[in-house]
Amino acid sequence: MAGAVVPPLRSGRVPGVGGMWAAGRRVSSRLALSGGEGGGVMGETPSGKRHHRRGKVSIAYDAPGGGGSQGASSSEAKKPKWEPKNWEQQLANIQEMRKERDAPVDRMGAGKCFDADAPPEVWRYQVLLSLMLSSQTKDQVTAAAMMRLRQHGLTVDSILEMDNAALGQLIYPVGFWKRKVQYIKQTTAILKRDYGGDIPKTVAALVQLPGVGPKMAHLVMDIAWETVSGIGVDTHVHRICNRLGWTKKETGLPEETRQALEAWLPRGLWSEINWLLVGFGQQVCLPVRPRCATCLNHGICPAARKR
Ligand code: SF4
Repeated sequence: MAGAVVPPLRSGRVPGVGGMWAAGRRVSSRLALSGGEGGGVMGETPSGKRHHRRGKVSIAYDAPGGGGSQGASSSEAKKPKWEPKNWEQQLANIQEMRKERDAPVDRMGAGKCFDADAPPEVWRYQVLLSLMLSSQTKDQVTAAAMMRLRQHGLTVDSILEMDNAALGQLIYPVGFWKRKVQYIKQTTAILKRDYGGDIPKTVAALVQLPGVGPKMAHLVMDIAWETVSGIGVDTHVHRICNRLGWTKKETGLPEETRQALEAWLPRGLWSEINWLLVGFGQQVCLPVRPRCATCLNHGICPAARKR
């Protein structure tokens, strides 16, 4: 993909905080993070044109049931909020283990595969497509498919002009590629008809698009609109949160994990946590045979003791 794809670097998702974290050292980042500032740096192009070191990140919240946390009532606010034991140290350790930013998601994640020099509505559309392709697909495969699409010309109009067979050839072998051809065509037609070729700007509208679920919608909001609407919880985030005890009780589905996590995790970390845990899940806390022996959380992870 060298030369054709110009992936923006997703670095320093919580500016000024990553450097504070070190293994074996308790951190006092909560207050600094909970104000919503520095909630995410989405990356920078090599040319520095985009993408986007944010001094302040907009945070939007969905209504209850639609994801995200709405303002708590005064009675709720008085209750001591549950939070997992040792979570700050566990997070600090993960940040330390992720400091090299050398996981597949750091180089080829869905937020890295768009053309940062394209017009805004075009690169936003490419963000949406890369996330649609990434479901059930390794980052390497998604990145390669995005490169082929971009070489062909990846805009709303070019996709609408393409027949299904040609689109299938370009995205194969992403997971469920035949179904994704249908979703991409249907979604692209809706974008053309209802959004002037751009993408919707709310989670509620995004999840109405064929093939777009809550996890994807929150990541689109974060990457494409620089608005933190909720935590993007994929299988890595879901698995690791349950292993670390970051959910009050065990959760069965990523969507349950998202709601459980949003109930206590400071909002300033919502943007970073997906990127952080996905890479950690790719390199250390693997789905099968996690590398507990080398994990800095070995001594404070409930799951490690069983292994
Ligand atoms: S100790 Fe093992 S299970 Fe726990 S976070 Fe580390 S790798 Fe994952």
